[in-house]
Parts: sequence; structure tokens; C-alpha cells
Amino acid sequence: MDVIDTLVIGAGITGLAYASFTPRQDLLVLEAEDQIGGYCKTVRQGPFVWDYSGHFFHFRHPHLERYLVSQMIPGEVQTITKWARILFEGTLVDFPFQKNIHQLPKEDFIDCLYELFFREERPVESFQDMLLTRFGSGICRRFLFPYNEKLYACDLDRLDVDAMGRFFPHADLAEIIRNFKFPNNRSYNTTFTYPRSGAVAYIDSLKSRLPDDRISLNEPLLRIDLEHKVAQTNQREIAFSTLVCTTPFNRLLEMTGIEHEPGLFTSNKVLVFNLGFDTKGPTQIHWMYLPEPRFCFYRVGFYDNIFGSPQMSLYIEIGLPTSAAVDVPTMQDRVLNDLKTAGIVGSQRLIASHNVVLDPAYVHITSKSQQAVASLKERLARHGVYSIGRYGSWTYCSIEDNLVEALQLVERLEGKPVRLA
Ligand SMILES: Cc1cc2nc3c(=O)[nH]c(=O)nc-3n(C[C@H](O)[C@H](O)[C@H](O)COP(=O)(O)OP(=O)(O)OC[C@H]3O[C@@H](n4cnc5c(N)ncnc54)[C@H](O)[C@@H]3O)c2cc1C
Repeated sequence: MDVIDTLVIGAGITGLAYASFTPRQDLLVLEAEDQIGGYCKTVRQGPFVWDYSGHFFHFRHPHLERYLVSQMIPGEVQTITKWARILFEGTLVDFPFQKNIHQLPKEDFIDCLYELFFREERPVESFQDMLLTRFGSGICRRFLFPYNEKLYACDLDRLDVDAMGRFFPHADLAEIIRNFKFPNNRSYNTTFTYPRSGAVAYIDSLKSRLPDDRISLNEPLLRIDLEHKVAQTNQREIAFSTLVCTTPFNRLLEMTGIEHEPGLFTSNKVLVFNLGFDTKGPTQIHWMYLPEPRFCFYRVGFYDNIFGSPQMSLYIEIGLPTSAAVDVPTMQDRVLNDLKTAGIVGSQRLIASHNVVLDPAYVHITSKSQQAVASLKERLARHGVYSIGRYGSWTYCSIEDNLVEALQLVERLEGKPVRLA
């Protein structure tokens, strides 16, 4: 049996961040797939650079950004000011919808404003209640309900009030009305960074800090014997002191044999199409939200407007229940049709395409799931097993949050602050 002090499961951004932040040298990262990156992989086809759906970076901690960028080619990272719009019944409205109802046709504007002003204030128990009591039924019916139902592929009443955390664009009545006259649509990602070679540049930066033999590809973790602290992979048994796991939390529980209530950990999956065309499409837009059920996708992004390139390069995101069958050719035809109906594709010809399913993509955060994750994480920690990452913590977060969580765990286990250089 091999003996390794620290095993890291998963070479996505979280696992690689942990491996590069920790001072421990006796460490191995196990990755199930044949390449690193997790959801931050980048695909290239001819002139097109695509991620596993758009992955844009926003940093609140300059030292983390410096740590990543210092290992990258100078000039690699561009900083971009976001152009995000909503397609509402043929009209483009600025995002967020709730602050820009004055851009709607008059009847819609009046209804949204009326229902906002006279909304019923009452205690809220779910995400759906929160939307309704904060914004009123006019805004909810036109955007917040249909958009989020398409995204999450579930009943919004199931989700926790705070299911989207800091990523939900809250606005009170005064802010909404002030926005009619003095537009201020600032949000956590008003400006974002994006490398010229795609999101994987950040992954490569972390990887460059690790010796090559510290990552084992094509080696999935299959089981963990918590009592004896032994990990079983498809190749061997490894005894560990510390195991840092970034696989989805429910899969970690299965691997350890810890039982949990059925139906506690649910999520959607997202089918992503990356599509390259021969000529340019709409300009001055980075991504568009489409709440209407007649369009199969909830969001379309325009890489060409981020790179300033001459051929339309799109990512398309479709939210699905995890149980849904995916027939890629049929869905791609539907996507192209819907893109034409939405006025995004006209005479352009499709010349390149790629697709991937992200499963899980958006987890369904409920009060029960949050309590279970917190208490089961503590139970696992008593055996030296720590679950982190977007799916390891079963949460809604950004890539920077993954870096922060990885650093916090390093500091917790070292018992002291760690300076990143
Ligand atoms: C549609 C979508 C859009 C997003 N856009 C943005 C964005 O614009 N900006 C942003 O900041 N964030 C964005 N995110 C969030 C971001 O993708 C995640 O926060 C981040 O990629 C999570 O990284 P991770 O390492 O925790 O997990 P993952 O990327 O899932 O990595 C986990 C790794 O573990 C491996 N693994 C799984 N099981 C095993 C096993 N049994 N044994 C060994 N290895 C295993 C996997 O192969 C994978 O490589 C988006 C997410 C989605 C779904």
C-alpha cells in the first residue's frame, strides 16, 4: 500500500489551488479524467477559443489575483467592462431586469412598477417567496420566475431564500426608481478578467507551481475507508493523513458509505453548446439572458465581443433536470432555430461546434442541504477528510471563492496564516 501525507481529489481550480498553496511536499493530486482543469477547461477549434461555458473572473482579493497572474505571459489577461442585456419579447433591456423596468414597453413597465409598489411584505421561506415579496408579481412573472426556473430546472419554492447568496442582484424600491434617472447597474462582475487563451490559463498558472509528478491523471478515487484512512483508487490503495476532496459532496458521501436522506442533494445539469460562425453577429454585448420559455436556452454569451474577434463565437447554456435525456443533434438543431428566432443568427453560417454537459452545474441549495453539509463536513473532518470547492461544499460560488476556501483550509490545517508569494 502507498503512503502519502496529503491526498487531493480533483485537479479543478480548487484542488490545484489547495495543492499549490499548502507548504506540504508529500502530496498527490488524483484526477479522474485525462486532463486537469475540471470546469475551467478551454477548448480550441480553429480561431475559436471556448470554455466549458463562459468562465469569467472577478477578484475581491488582489493578492490571489497577483498569485495567478504572476505565472502568466505578460498581457495575457484582459480586463473587460461587462455588457449584459436581457431579451424581453423582442426588446433588449439592461441587466438586472428589476432595476431597468423603465426600459420595457409602457404597459409592462406600469404593471411591474404597480406590483412592486403594492407588493405584500410577509415573512419568506423560499427563494420564490423572497423574489415575490421583494419585487412584486409583475417583475417575477416577466423575468425572475421564468429565468430562474429555466436555469435551476426545478420549482423555485424548493430553494432556500438565500440560494444565490451574494450573486443575486438585490435592489430596493428607492434604488430601482433612482435607476430610472441615474443608471447604476454595478454588480460583483461589472468588470471581469479573461485570458486571451481562455479560462485554462488560470489553471495552467496554478499547475506551473507544482512538480509534474504531483498530479496523477486517469486515477479516480473510488472509495474511502474512513476508519483506517485508506483511499481506494482504480489503481491502488493509498494510506493518507489528510484527504482534501473536491468531488460533488453527495458522491463523497457515497464513497465513504455515509448515508444521507434521499433527495437531499439535488442539482440541475447544464448542456453547453459552443458555436463558431463564419461572420460577425451582434456587437456591444457579452451575454444575453433569455427568460422566455420559447427559447430552450437561458443565456447566450458572445466570446467574439470579449476578444474583439471578427467571427461570431457563442456559448449557449441550457438548464436541465439531471434525469433528462440529452439528444445532442436534436438539441443543436433546436438551438440554431431558437438563435434565429431571437435574432442572434441571421445569414451567418455555422463552421465549428462543441458541446459538453456540466453535471452537476447549479446545486439546489435548501436549508436542509446546508445543515447536512455543515454537520457531515465536521464528521468527515474527524477522519482527516475535508470537502471543499463549489461541489464539495455544495454551494453557489465563484472561482475566486474556491481559491479563498482552499487557502482557508490550508491555514486551518497549518494552524497559522500562509503568505502566498
Ligand atoms: C454554467 C457555469 C458557469 C460558471 N461561470 C463562472 C464564471 O463565469 N466565473 C466564476 O468565477 N465561476 C463560474 N462558475 C463556477 C466555477 O465553474 C466553479 O466555481 C469552479 O470551476 C469549481 O471548481 P472545483 O475545482 O471546485 O470543481 P470542478 O471544476 O468540478 O473540479 C473537480 C475535479 O474533480 C475531478 N473528480 C471528480 N470526481 C473524482 C474522483 N472520484 N476522483 C478523482 N477526481 C475526481 C473532476 O474530474 C474535476 O476535475 C460557473 C459554473 C457553471 C456551472
